[in-house]
Amino acid sequence: MNCKELAYMLADYIDGSMDPQLREELDAHIAMCEPCMIFTKTFLVASDKTRQLRKEIEYKIPPEVRSRLETFVRAAALKFPEKVNEYREQVERERREKVAALLKAAIAGRLSSITALLVETHCAGCPECKEYFDGLLKASSPAAGDPPMLIDSHVTRLMESLPPGEEFFLA
Ligand SMILES: [Zn+2]
Ligand SMILES: [Zn+2]
Repeated sequence: MNCKELAYMLADYIDGSMDPQLREELDAHIAMCEPCMIFTKTFLVASDKTRQLRKEIEYKIPPEVRSRLETFVRAAALKFPEKVNEYREQVERERREKVAALLKAAIAGRLSSITALLVETHCAGCPECKEYFDGLLKASSPAAGDPPMLIDSHVTRLMESLPPGEEFFLA
């Protein structure tokens, strides 16, 4: 269980789309745990958009609350492994979609300036990515299928280093 998975679970909890069994577990925990209760309430009041919420939970969850929730969610995860796999798959799916969108934006020349700079800087020190991106630009279409694992992981890291809320492509 990493922070991102936790954030998804909490966001689903708050927007009501969480699996009922997991939700019950979380309710029981929150009822007994003041920091988590306060945190959840704060977000219920402060947010109405799920997207925004996911972002904010990831970046603003206080460390103390995060570790309490993590311990709890880990315990719940042991009880409902198949639900947790669903969340994992969801996180992975969204990550791949984002990588694909970034590559497409790169081909179309629509990367945000900060993203373009990050890609450029990274490629200057990473021959594998440089070759891949150069190839993309030459072919001006994404290669069939997913990018090689190394490229995929570098692009993922690159996206994660963007400031919170920063879009990687131009509108
Ligand atoms: Zn708690
Ligand atoms: Zn690289």
